[in-house]
Amino acid sequence: MPVKTIRSVIHGQEVASPLPVFDKIYPATGEVIAKVEPASPQMLDEAVEYARQAQKKWAALAGHERGRILQNIAQTLRDHNEALSALEVRDVGKLYSEAVSADVPSGAEAFEFFAALAATYHGTSHKWSDAIGYTMRVPLGVCAGIGAWNYPVQVACWKAAPALAAGNAFILKPSEETPLTANMLADLFKIAGLPDGLFQVIHGDHHIGQAICAHRDIAKISLTGGVDTGKLILAQSAQTLKKVTLELGGKAPLLVFEDCDFDLAVQTALDANFYTAGEVCSNATRVFVQDSIAERFIDAMREKTKNLVIGDPMQPKTQIGALISDRHLQNVLGHIRKAEAQGAHILTGGKQAFPQDSQGGFFIEPTILTGCHDEMDCVREEIFGPVMSVLTFASEEEAVSRANNMPFGLGAGIMTRDISRAHRLADALEAGNIWVNSYNLIPPGLPFGGSKQSGFGREGSIYALEAYTEVKAVYIQL
Ligand code: NAD
Repeated sequence: MPVKTIRSVIHGQEVASPLPVFDKIYPATGEVIAKVEPASPQMLDEAVEYARQAQKKWAALAGHERGRILQNIAQTLRDHNEALSALEVRDVGKLYSEAVSADVPSGAEAFEFFAALAATYHGTSHKWSDAIGYTMRVPLGVCAGIGAWNYPVQVACWKAAPALAAGNAFILKPSEETPLTANMLADLFKIAGLPDGLFQVIHGDHHIGQAICAHRDIAKISLTGGVDTGKLILAQSAQTLKKVTLELGGKAPLLVFEDCDFDLAVQTALDANFYTAGEVCSNATRVFVQDSIAERFIDAMREKTKNLVIGDPMQPKTQIGALISDRHLQNVLGHIRKAEAQGAHILTGGKQAFPQDSQGGFFIEPTILTGCHDEMDCVREEIFGPVMSVLTFASEEEAVSRANNMPFGLGAGIMTRDISRAHRLADALEAGNIWVNSYNLIPPGLPFGGSKQSGFGREGSIYALEAYTEVKAVYIQL
């Protein structure tokens, strides 16, 4: 396949950059598949100026008119699902079967959901004896999204849909590791009727990310990324007092009680660790199993895990795709070696994998660590690969207190048939998202986001829309 050049998309055009290119590598083979031109600060200035102009007209439309175009975007995404999913595989190395059934549809759902909200979003009204008052939600202006590499399409859509619904212009800086699908999204949004300047793509790494944070005409940044990056972006945005939403990392617990549906709990633990080769921020990488079922549970997980098919992410039979890069693969292997050194036992996996059908790629065996305790690094640090740490517990109180003993708070899962316990623990667990007898399901009407050091602000739901607006109060003396 020819090596493509990827350029920033400014006002509907791909624009050449004076800066040196960098390579985009296909994670499943290690081949260079594109050369990426990072945007210069001047290009960012141009994009922001186009965005400012386009946003004024966009905000002047009635909500239902914006909604109609967002609905078209959703349909266009669905119409191009296969092509977009295949490109997402080239970007991330994740399974095509996942991209086509989850990533792109969830992007389309976000546009459907926020299209409906655009048409119906409204303020409040108030009355006193000699005055009336009302509020309106006004857009912020130009908003930017800075993305992680694990869900490029979903991250772009989850941020752009509420931003556009509220009447803002949106600039996306995808991760430098996954630049491919952003340009296709810009093309598709244009086909769907979105005017130029409302969704633009700025390529590059943290250098242009810093320029986005410092830009005085960008009103808001929504980041999906690591905790350390979140702290930097918050500091970098302070000078211009930007609004900031931070979707950061986690180390979520899954609490498996002896009264659970056993088979469902085993499968949920595996999915909550090995889906997208473990590169999921909300993954439940600390699996707490009640003592009485621990041995049987661990055996069942080992049996299912050792048979998972690793390899070419385009093949329907494949269950574990590639990690994003060789650097990340080495990082995940390093975590496993450290866990071993600290006394963890590798129940299954633990090594780099070399599938026959996808040579040169960055693959790792799905790994289960047993014999873990709460102070080990593998239990405390986000690994962001297919590595599960198993812990055991005796009582509910113990499980909750150990689950909460963590600086992160993105997700938490509870496997139980006891409905009172489910509600009690949904209240007690410190996380933005709680799943009972399921995991990682995020329909667009429910907010998604973290507490503690997993960040603040929410994707999805009315809360995301609110975060792309400001409230204005009008008082009228009668
Ligand atoms: P990362 O933090 O390295 O990079 C994220 C983005 O920030 C990239 O686009 C990068 O170019 C940019 N960036 C880095 N430094 C910057 C700076 N100083 N100023 C401006 N921009 C900067 O994260 P990653 O490695 O791409 O993704 C993995 C991380 O993302 C994991 O920690 C994971 O948990 C997290 N994540 C969170 C969610 C969520 O919704 N909470 C979802 C997916 C991933």
